[in-house]
Amino acid sequence: MAIANCKRCGRLYNRIGRDICKDCIREEDDVLLEIRQYLKKHPQANIYEVADGTAATYEEIVAFLRDGRLILRDNPNMAYPCERCGTLTQSGRLCANCTQALAKELGQAAAAIQKEESQGKRGKGFLSR
Ligand SMILES: [Zn+2]
Ligand SMILES: [Zn+2]
Repeated sequence: MAIANCKRCGRLYNRIGRDICKDCIREEDDVLLEIRQYLKKHPQANIYEVADGTAATYEEIVAFLRDGRLILRDNPNMAYPCERCGTLTQSGRLCANCTQALAKELGQAAAAIQKEESQGKRGKGFLSR
């Protein structure tokens, strides 16, 4: 059993997986439902309008979108800045460009390591011959 302070309301709770307490999970689910219902009625709404029209704050809505807990369908105005370059995006932490760029960088880094490793092996093999 792990006792922790709820990240959302600050109360002590028995931590099971999530970093917020049971009450807050339930409240968040209610808020998510409210947001979905609002978006159904107002598909052209932006995040500020949804924050105005529901119990959620702007930051909460962005967090839901970044975590993938709120998935947009036809809501072109529900956009928030990418964490890397600030370009508006509609899902995840990064925009499509940064996701691609980051994957490329990771791929290059992995390739460089592999190259070094294989060169290292070859070098050793050469020396031992
Ligand atoms: Zn809580
Ligand atoms: Zn970006």
